[in-house]
Amino acid sequence: YSQKYYSILKKRFTLPVYQFKQELLKKVMANQCVVVEGETGSGKTTQIPQFLLEAGLASQGETCIACTQPRRVAATSIAARVADEMDVQLGQEVGYTIRFEDVSDPNRTVLKFVTDGMLLREAMHDSLLSRYSAIVLDECHERTLATDVIMGLLMEILPKRTKGSKHGELKVVVMSATLDAKKFQEYFNDAPLMKVPGRTFPVEVFFTAKAERNYVEAAVRTTLHIHQCEEPGDILVFLTGEAEIEQACEEIRKTAGSMARDHGELVVYPLYSSLPPEAQRKIFSAAPKAQVAGGPPGRKVVVSTNIAETSLTIDGIVYVVDPGFSKQKVYNPRIRVESLLVSPISRASARQRSGRAGRTRPGKCFRLYTEQSFHKDLQETTYPEILRSKMSNVVLTLKKLGIDDLVHFDFMDPPAPETLMRALELLNYLGALDDEGEMTELGYQMSELPLDPQLAKLILVSPDYGCSAEIVTIVAMLSVPQIFLRPREQAKAADEAKAQFTHADSDHLTLLRAFNEYNMVPERERKNWCWENFISERAMISANNVRNQIIGIMKRLDLAYVSSDIKGDGSFSSMDIRKALTAGMFMQVAYRQRSGEYLTVKDNQNVAIHPSSVVNNRQDWVIFEEFALTTKNFIRTVTSTNVDWLVELAPHYFDLENFPKCEAKGELEKA
Ligand code: ADP
Ligand code: MG
Repeated sequence: YSQKYYSILKKRFTLPVYQFKQELLKKVMANQCVVVEGETGSGKTTQIPQFLLEAGLASQGETCIACTQPRRVAATSIAARVADEMDVQLGQEVGYTIRFEDVSDPNRTVLKFVTDGMLLREAMHDSLLSRYSAIVLDECHERTLATDVIMGLLMEILPKRTKGSKHGELKVVVMSATLDAKKFQEYFNDAPLMKVPGRTFPVEVFFTAKAERNYVEAAVRTTLHIHQCEEPGDILVFLTGEAEIEQACEEIRKTAGSMARDHGELVVYPLYSSLPPEAQRKIFSAAPKAQVAGGPPGRKVVVSTNIAETSLTIDGIVYVVDPGFSKQKVYNPRIRVESLLVSPISRASARQRSGRAGRTRPGKCFRLYTEQSFHKDLQETTYPEILRSKMSNVVLTLKKLGIDDLVHFDFMDPPAPETLMRALELLNYLGALDDEGEMTELGYQMSELPLDPQLAKLILVSPDYGCSAEIVTIVAMLSVPQIFLRPREQAKAADEAKAQFTHADSDHLTLLRAFNEYNMVPERERKNWCWENFISERAMISANNVRNQIIGIMKRLDLAYVSSDIKGDGSFSSMDIRKALTAGMFMQVAYRQRSGEYLTVKDNQNVAIHPSSVVNNRQDWVIFEEFALTTKNFIRTVTSTNVDWLVELAPHYFDLENFPKCEAKGELEKA
């Protein structure tokens, strides 16, 4: 074993969960399901799967242990850490699987970290999860949609995977960071509980006297204030997303640079899901040392999404800055809109966040809201995601799994009937379910694609329009983070660069053009080309990778790969592609009123085309990818279409008999 292995090993022995190893294994051996509740940072995620391995629960080439994570970053980062702890190479004995990325080896991997969504997909092909001898469901307190569905599935699987059953016994360890254990115990037929006490130090909590108008600015100010006035110790700042986090990092760096001599060096690391892995790993590096002997020591600042709330523990944090917000899914079934909104966190989350300051010694938490607001405005806990999500993806998955009676499926918290109805309706309109609710051949094919049902449908119809090569590119480009970069201080140059790719009728076609141009650039010049054109190289690389994977699935499904680029010079047929887009996305249509405003068709929501869109407001009919609720109702990623195509391609949806009265109806009648 390496030096590194021994130094980590020493640290592992000091984790609280180590004291409970024997007790845990005893409970696991005696029960099919065990609930573990333990303070964040006590070693649950990194150690417990290893305990199960040591107890002989998995054997190479035969069975495997899975540990689920709600977030991709957590799955990849923890897998890397555990591979280090076990002194093995990532992807061999220890691996991970996230959507579009599988770093594991079926013949060697015995411990796999997976996103909850990917485990659900695996269940579609292996309904008893027969590959696995144990499943560790981590971060259950977060109650993500996929974790809730997996729990429901496990309720069906566990009785079929008892000792002596065909695939052997399946063990389940349900892990949670908060005090919700009772609910999990009851759900899993009174499973025994193991409590791991944390070792935390007191954290002093401060509130602001007045509400802050701009929480990003307030977070930056507070961070710099801590750096100037407080004792040494690292700082963790919670913000909601990439743009905010990058902005805050930049501002902190700028001001801290001029303070370095008096206050020691300050290093700032961002942490969010679309950050490349090398950059993510930096958050674990030690704070900088004093620059001169006897001088002030340096300080590390991590500015993070709520991934650092419970999923990842960063040692050495003494100060937490909590503005009280995170991005949360919100769903409105009436208008079929699901969006991510910056929303107030719950009191339980606020407590978790402040706890992060007391890991190594007594700490301080600065909440950027008033004490009154904490008690009056924040909810005690966040609603489970299943009550805030559209269910079309899940319903398709459950149908594929042969679960027809969705109403009696054992959800821990059943979704609203209206939400289920909406999902069934959407799948019916897309042709995935017939009028009796039975899955169609098309539905089976759709469920094979790891995409939203609408995008899956788009892929499946694209060969009919002679442009599957282009559609697969567009879908891949939609599946990766932001392609076109627009730094605030270079906005004009960025807009000019984007204008080269612009197709006036369509953001989708603009994405397609950018990809095609990129693909023509020789490999060694691509980095430069991306830089010059304000395009994210990393997003392009992943789009290419996603594209190849979808093409692989299309081959398996026997779908034709055809291009509308007949001349082979990178051109394409705008009409065929827009028609295909219309055939897949006909449920997301808006019509421009005589007043000049857009109204979504059927739901009659006032919307505006997002300023980032290349489609101007001259088009009457547009289809859109995304409904973004911000200061206004925006539709984003837009393509122009026309009423004749809509009537031709989706007559059942635009059935005039049941059509609400609106200006669009008049146009449809004429057509
Ligand atoms: P829990 O799941 O109970 O919250 P973890 O098992 O995630 O706890 O973490 C246990 C310890 O391992 C923490 O002290 C954490 O800082 C450390 N740790 C986890 N991942 C890494 C990493 N990539 N690098 C360094 N330390 C890590
Ligand atoms: Mg954990």
